[in-house]
Amino acid sequence: MAASFYKSTRSSDLNITSSEAIVKGLAHDGGLYVPKEFPIIEKSFDELMDMNYRELAFYIMKKYFTDFEDKELLQCINSAYDEKFDSKNIAELIECSGVYFLELFHGPTLAFKDMALSILPYLLKTASKKQNIKKEIVILTATSGDTGKAALEGFADVDGIKIIVFYPEDGVSEIQKRQMITQQGKNTSVIGIEGNFDDAQNGVKEVFADKEFNNTINEKGYIFSSANSINIGRLVPQIVYYFYAYLKMLREGKIAEGENINIVVPTGNFGNILAAYYGKEMGLPVNKLICASNENNVLHDFISTGIYDIRREFKKTISPSMDILISSNLERFLYELSSKDEKLINKLMKNLKETGKYEITQDMKEKLKDFYGGYVDDEKTRETIKDVYEKSNYLIDTHTAVAYAVYKKYKKETKDEARTVIASTASPYKFTRSVMEAIDKSIEDHDDFHLIKTMSNLTGLNVPKGIKDLEKKEILHNKKCKKNEIKKVIADILD
Ligand SMILES: *Cc1c(COP(=O)(O)O)cnc(C)c1O
Repeated sequence: MAASFYKSTRSSDLNITSSEAIVKGLAHDGGLYVPKEFPIIEKSFDELMDMNYRELAFYIMKKYFTDFEDKELLQCINSAYDEKFDSKNIAELIECSGVYFLELFHGPTLAFKDMALSILPYLLKTASKKQNIKKEIVILTATSGDTGKAALEGFADVDGIKIIVFYPEDGVSEIQKRQMITQQGKNTSVIGIEGNFDDAQNGVKEVFADKEFNNTINEKGYIFSSANSINIGRLVPQIVYYFYAYLKMLREGKIAEGENINIVVPTGNFGNILAAYYGKEMGLPVNKLICASNENNVLHDFISTGIYDIRREFKKTISPSMDILISSNLERFLYELSSKDEKLINKLMKNLKETGKYEITQDMKEKLKDFYGGYVDDEKTRETIKDVYEKSNYLIDTHTAVAYAVYKKYKKETKDEARTVIASTASPYKFTRSVMEAIDKSIEDHDDFHLIKTMSNLTGLNVPKGIKDLEKKEILHNKKCKKNEIKKVIADILD
């Protein structure tokens, strides 16, 4: 079997197995682990069509986690995709308003992050056993709101693992924050940082890259790993649902075998859309990958010009999980665009660090044409929620609305009629205030928790169990820190 399936985006000589890549998270040269080659789908869609979510997950993940035994991988999958999802299909596909909404929010924390973070703890435990790791694993996570809770939920009370989450104190929704600070589990720590998501993510990345600090921690019996989408164990499980959606459309006769579809993804760290791109490289028939942004539109500009430039104001929007200027996973995409040119990746990343921008080559710009980038502001996002609700009686959250609005723009510009899947990344229940404000201006003085009930009354849908009684839960975490204190906080927790 392919012993070393992964390598770093920044060096040609860091070759490792999947279990090693999952344990390490980030490569020591600062690069991200990528597969040396994309595995391909050798079965016909006809053969795949009748698989359920777990079976398909096994078929796809097995191609990436090559040093896992069948039995091990099956156990990970079966432990992850079970009754904690409130849909027995795990993901639902809803045809509505001329598109297919791929609902990825049926997991315990009501956001698509559950699709990968419900399995990552099992992958990590298995991987660390395979790697014969005796040290305690410390998961460091920066979150723009949803990763934090999904990771806490996944890792709470898992033996031999601690988890520390940093979130931007004023950059998440009231419900997102409450979900995190009420987290139970002796091995969990949650810290609000004074700064935005990029500050949190940069701080955590620096910890990974700091050899000296890592040595000190190792001596104390710990090693760091990551639950962010820089971990390949996060990315791979996300490929599954794009195939799942395609096969479902095929099964229901919405598309013909081999017909290309568009996929629209509301994007922040470029993880979810990268998974769709990996799917395409494996043989998923995709016409356009549509990258939707809010007013933090650095990716839109990049896709239109080939210039990535973060020197701009960071904006707080009503789709906070996408309030990001430095999209980590873009590095994996650049690596593929450059035909695996590690030297170039080093140069681009150095430029980004030193000057706040980089420009890709002409050749890479040509290949970017598979993508379309668009963005909308908060006003347009609200209008879209209202419009879909009034026309179709279907309530979407702010992130999904950004995606749908960008798709409408795309369709108007291009007249493209290809069937289109919209990644629905969160339940409207996670962003009750913004969603309710969009459809009903009269609710302004109610708090976010009261609005949960209002939303339920309005839609006739039951309140998802993940946020039921959230308001009454005891607050267990109230630590805060400045952005330059991350290392110190970690050291204190581990002391
Ligand atoms: C994380 C998140 C996104 C962005 O996904 P990326 O993989 O970071 O691009 C979009 N919507 C919601 C609701 C999220 O939680």
